[in-house]
Amino acid sequence: MKLFNKLLLKLCIITQLFVMNFAFSNTIEGIEIPLQYDQKFLDNHNKSFTNSDYLTVIREETFFPRDTVQLKKFNKALSLLETILNSDSFKSKVLSYKRESNGKREFQKAYLLSESSKTLSNEEVLKVILEGNEKMRPHTFGEMNINSYVKVCRSWRRLGIWCRKVIGSTTPSSSKWIKLNWNFYQNFETHQMVNNLVHEWVHLLGFLHGSEYMREEVPYVIGKIAGVVALEILAKKEIINTKLALN
Ligand SMILES: [Zn+2]
Repeated sequence: MKLFNKLLLKLCIITQLFVMNFAFSNTIEGIEIPLQYDQKFLDNHNKSFTNSDYLTVIREETFFPRDTVQLKKFNKALSLLETILNSDSFKSKVLSYKRESNGKREFQKAYLLSESSKTLSNEEVLKVILEGNEKMRPHTFGEMNINSYVKVCRSWRRLGIWCRKVIGSTTPSSSKWIKLNWNFYQNFETHQMVNNLVHEWVHLLGFLHGSEYMREEVPYVIGKIAGVVALEILAKKEIINTKLALN
């Protein structure tokens, strides 16, 4: 009986660790992110929010399972990241973002890893992003270092929670890698890939998930903003291409 209790305790601990990890840095499908901006802040600051920080995207190692149209979208998403994250549109959205739940210009759970005593302002969140100093890729200031692979779930593993529900995941304190789920990436459009890649990369900087108001947390909001700016840029490119085709 003692042995049984011991085994049960072990199982509980393992489950607990799994649940904690699951809650901390996985991106779950189907979460809608409301984006609201503080218009007064934008009016008062006009374009003075822009700063000289520049983030360079460095594609270190990326693995994609098949050479399909999805790979083209993935490459496009990666090639857009630098333009997106350095754009006035992105910066102004991050700075003026306000939470839906309390109308305040701030993020939910905006602190790095275990430094929970210091909550970061929108300005500080933007600074951390543009510094690009991933926890497991330290001293790479001003760089967004991308190391990612897409996992294809096979056989019985397809039934597991990760394969069915998780778009991407990271373990920010021990790995520089972003793990992406083919189950979603086989259908994603470019802006959705941008959204998810930025979300996961923001985890690597040290922003994790809590249990309340997750959709107002830094990874979800910043990912969503990046996806919205991607759409803006893609729409502009489309207009230019159409004009060129008409001339
Ligand atoms: Zn996440």
